[in-house]
Amino acid sequence: MVTYAYRCPECGSVDLTFPLGRAPEHASCPRCGTWTRRRWTAPALARLPRGIREAHAREERSRDEPEVVSRPGPGRRL
Ligand SMILES: [Zn+2]
Repeated sequence: MVTYAYRCPECGSVDLTFPLGRAPEHASCPRCGTWTRRRWTAPALARLPRGIREAHAREERSRDEPEVVSRPGPGRRL
């Protein structure tokens, strides 16, 4: 289980736990039941085992900077 930060309009910041990668974008606040929205913050990742944290960081980073950058070499044009 991983702790994710949500923003409740009534309570402010609340922490909810979900299995890794299963956190919904919206969830009901555990205190008041109001619909909360997930906050995309990094601190919770520090609680993860190193391997998972690095994999997660790599995944997030690859959204903007794909790791696989291959260019067709000379003579390989279709
Ligand atoms: Zn609340």
